[in-house]
Amino acid sequence: MAFELSDLKEHNSELLNLLTQHLPDMLWVKDVEGTYIYANKALCEGLLMANDTEEPIGKNDVFFALREREAHKHQPSWHTFGELCFNSDIDVIKNNQAMKFEEYGNVKGKLMYLEVYKAPFYDKEGNIIGTVGAGRDITQMKKSQFDLQNSLSMLEQQRKQLEYQANHDALTGLPNRVLFMDRLTQILNVAQKYDEEIAVLFIDLDHFKEINDSLGHDIGDQILVEFTKRVETKIEITDTLSRLGGDEFCVILSDISEPDYISNIISEIVAVVKESFVVGNNTLYVGMSIGIVIYPHDGEDAHALLKNADAAMYKAKENGRNRYCFYDENMTAKAYERVFLEAELRKAFINDELVVYFQPQMDIRTDRLVGMEALVRWQHPTMGLISPVRFIPLAELSGMIVELDRIVMQKALSEFAKWEVKGLNPGRLSMNLAMKQIEENDFIAFIKQLALKENIAYELLGFEVTESQIMKNPKDSIEALQKINDLGICLSVDDFGTGYSSLAYLKRLPIKKLKIDKSFIDNLPHDAEDAAISKTIISLAENLNLKVIAEGVETQEQKKFLYDNGCYFVQGYVYSQPLAPEAMEAFLIENKAL
Ligand code: C2E
Ligand code: CA
Repeated sequence: MAFELSDLKEHNSELLNLLTQHLPDMLWVKDVEGTYIYANKALCEGLLMANDTEEPIGKNDVFFALREREAHKHQPSWHTFGELCFNSDIDVIKNNQAMKFEEYGNVKGKLMYLEVYKAPFYDKEGNIIGTVGAGRDITQMKKSQFDLQNSLSMLEQQRKQLEYQANHDALTGLPNRVLFMDRLTQILNVAQKYDEEIAVLFIDLDHFKEINDSLGHDIGDQILVEFTKRVETKIEITDTLSRLGGDEFCVILSDISEPDYISNIISEIVAVVKESFVVGNNTLYVGMSIGIVIYPHDGEDAHALLKNADAAMYKAKENGRNRYCFYDENMTAKAYERVFLEAELRKAFINDELVVYFQPQMDIRTDRLVGMEALVRWQHPTMGLISPVRFIPLAELSGMIVELDRIVMQKALSEFAKWEVKGLNPGRLSMNLAMKQIEENDFIAFIKQLALKENIAYELLGFEVTESQIMKNPKDSIEALQKINDLGICLSVDDFGTGYSSLAYLKRLPIKKLKIDKSFIDNLPHDAEDAAISKTIISLAENLNLKVIAEGVETQEQKKFLYDNGCYFVQGYVYSQPLAPEAMEAFLIENKAL
């Protein structure tokens, strides 16, 4: 476009007029100051609110903007097109470039979107002498666009919701079977890559159908929700709990590198589920059966693992419900023992199944008895006599050791007192003591009361505390042991040589005796190292002014070695195995007759 402004008038033919005045688009021509030279009807009516097409001539957009603002001065944020149009005119001229943009503003109280096109035009020398422009009301199109966007985001929300519903259980919010299989597959992929083991627990509530049938589904649902909450508190954030349907749940344990992890989790789950469920006026107890599989041992993919976990769960149910079962039975035997024995041990206290044996402690110079050690055994109604090696560590872990040792002390003192009264010279009664016991506030009171009841002088009593337990917390041990020593009770360090005693602490401990651990005696006198260690312990005891006794002495050779090296007290099969009370009494009578 190149012509003089004055030429415009000649070009303003009827034809052009006809065209521009009847088109719905807004059209205009302005000079370089932004003053209207021409405005069509659509522009005057639709945007400028001009009375006719003559009114804008000689005026600019700022004029119309001010007029529009004046009309709406009670709405200070009222946004008009005027200033924007004026500014974009200047940009077109400054940049000497056509522009196309979208703009919105308020017109007659309504929001309007405009698509605007502006271009410069030139005189014959090529100087910009004005701009032409066209504007189109695209409000309707914009609205449709927004509506479409809204519908799309609503659809997306619905899709997400549907996806969540498709993957989760509505009642508990847990992942359902679909998501469970998906997650399990993902976890297996990682496990395979890094050569890791994972475990899957298949949990099925016992007799849940009966609860549903007799109390209604509402109560059943509440139990499932409460069950979920309880189990969730016991699993790690990285483990996945899901509800497969009905009363079936699954847990994926993705890191089982700690050997005790599975049995610990199971103990904890069993413990929280064992607590009563109070629903409305009902107090209910819920049992469960658990089947366990280990990847890759029991299956290579998610389907095989789930199938086998299910089978293991059924085996647990067949075994009498409320228990758990590994798919591989060997593992059940190992892991089951702990949970099972713990529960059985609690019953053992109530049913009085603990019995105390006594093993003589002898002076090899005279072959005379100097004392005895009380050793507990568990007379189980179906499993027979159980060794303390199997249940003492368990009792220590669960804290039951405190009660257990008190039962042993009561029984041991009661037998021992009878032998005292009968004049059978039973020497000193030595008992094993867990550090946990000594830390109990009322322990001193307990032992005082017991000694008083059985009428036994403290000097006739001894306690053996293992070296490893003392050295776990040597500073506190010194204080706690001091109180026992103050009573006049003889303290020995049990299993000496296995617990890495610090000599500095050893000197400060209120102890009277070291007990050389059986492991150093076993290979005497032939093993040079064990011989050296035994000799060292004997001379250490001598230097610290402590007595020394050897445990687990089985042969005459061992006995002679100890004698030759100055250890005169022994306990072991060479004299006697631990004896039941009647057998111990017979031993005492025989010994006395010597
Ligand atoms: P310990 O205190 O080191 O007890 C010695 C263990 O060695 C006993 O095993 C005893 O039967 C065994 N023994 C003794 N002489 C010989 C021998 O010549 N040869 C062989 N092979 N073994 C011998 P037991 O009775 O099975 O006790 C095992 C451990 O259980 C005890 O080791 C002790 O740490 C713990 N324990 C036993 N009774 C109690 C108890 O009442 N309370 C506590 N806290 N621990 C106890
Ligand atoms: Ca002992």
